[in-house]
Amino acid sequence: MTTMTTGGCLCGSFRYQFDREQAISAHHCHCKDCQKVTGSGKATIIMVPTQALSTEGEISTYTVTGTDGGHVTRGFCPSCGSQLISYLEEMPATRFVKAGTLDDGSWVVVDSSFWSCSAEPWSPVDSSSPAFEKNPRM
Ligand SMILES: [Zn+2]
Ligand SMILES: [Zn+2]
Repeated sequence: MTTMTTGGCLCGSFRYQFDREQAISAHHCHCKDCQKVTGSGKATIIMVPTQALSTEGEISTYTVTGTDGGHVTRGFCPSCGSQLISYLEEMPATRFVKAGTLDDGSWVVVDSSFWSCSAEPWSPVDSSSPAFEKNPRM
């Protein structure tokens, strides 16, 4: 049985794959920026080592300075706008894959939630794992 996992954007022009055994962790993020880009109550991300992730196709990026001064670059499909992969300039060895873009995300186990302080009442913080009020100290 292969543990290779695949995903991509809505229109299919950007595809990626990684070995899920190499995935580091998974998190919900309720920060305002993630709410804006996803158009939803939270983003769910999987942390994957950059070298374990292979991609195919073009990606557009948008960079913002986070509240703690980190530079967050979010990658999205230039055709369909799907949010795909983001990274922190300060953490180049790690990529954050949006869990909703996996072809099959049923194996993902969320380890914790970030930014519980800005969670909306209609998208409450997952009570089955630890929650951090803002970003955890890593
Ligand atoms: Zn697309
Ligand atoms: Zn966030």
